[in-house]
Amino acid sequence: MRNRTVAANWKMNMPPKETKEFLDKLLPEIRETDLNLIICAPFVSIQTVVDCLKGTKIHVGAQNMYFEDRGAYTGEISPVMLKEIGVSHVILGHSERRKYFGETNEIVNKKIIKALEHGLVPMACCGESLKIRGDGLAKQYIHRQIMEMLQGVRKEDVSKCIFSYEPIWAIGTGIGATKEQAEEGCMEIRRCIESMYGSETSNNVTVLYGGSVNSSNAHTIFPIQDIDGGLLGTAGLSMDFARVVKIREEYK
Ligand code: PEP
Repeated sequence: MRNRTVAANWKMNMPPKETKEFLDKLLPEIRETDLNLIICAPFVSIQTVVDCLKGTKIHVGAQNMYFEDRGAYTGEISPVMLKEIGVSHVILGHSERRKYFGETNEIVNKKIIKALEHGLVPMACCGESLKIRGDGLAKQYIHRQIMEMLQGVRKEDVSKCIFSYEPIWAIGTGIGATKEQAEEGCMEIRRCIESMYGSETSNNVTVLYGGSVNSSNAHTIFPIQDIDGGLLGTAGLSMDFARVVKIREEYK
């Protein structure tokens, strides 16, 4: 379903004590919103986020998971574990996982299928490097990522997913995509989903833009029809998150 969304990806920041201190400050600013808000915390801080968000409609997300339920996979976390502690969303295929941990579309595909099997909402990320963009291949690249990540995913499950266009060159750089670039990437996600599942499905999925979104540039991104919201890294770690939420509220 298509939802106006603002999500924070805390990455490897916010240990439990800091999490509590931060959420104590942040929550009064965001708790009344009717937007779909998701806080994606590191594994060890998830329980603290769950406790702090009790009684609110804000969702708790993880930043990764493994594609098996249990077993001899040292260091991994399963969807069963995430569900049990109150996690509802999981970021999958973030470019940092692809770059540093060798995640491929095939692995992300397995994770998406497993997350859906357990009722977790996959937040599937895609996006091109500067080189691919420079070569004029950004759209083809996004299309292929989405196609491969969605192999074998049933039509009725696709609309449960959230997709995020995150050009690698815009992540953590302070140089966000222009309005046109963000729109083009998000439209390409919808076009690919349309080619696989039809226009009703593609019009109904939530598609976010991520890449240096903050309260100074959110006004250029959120009015765009094909973009339902933002996935925030840096700005998700400060009170700027609340300012971005307020900006998202301004656009229906
Ligand atoms: C991210 O890592 O998902 C992200 C969008 O980071 P930033 O907002 O810092 O660019």
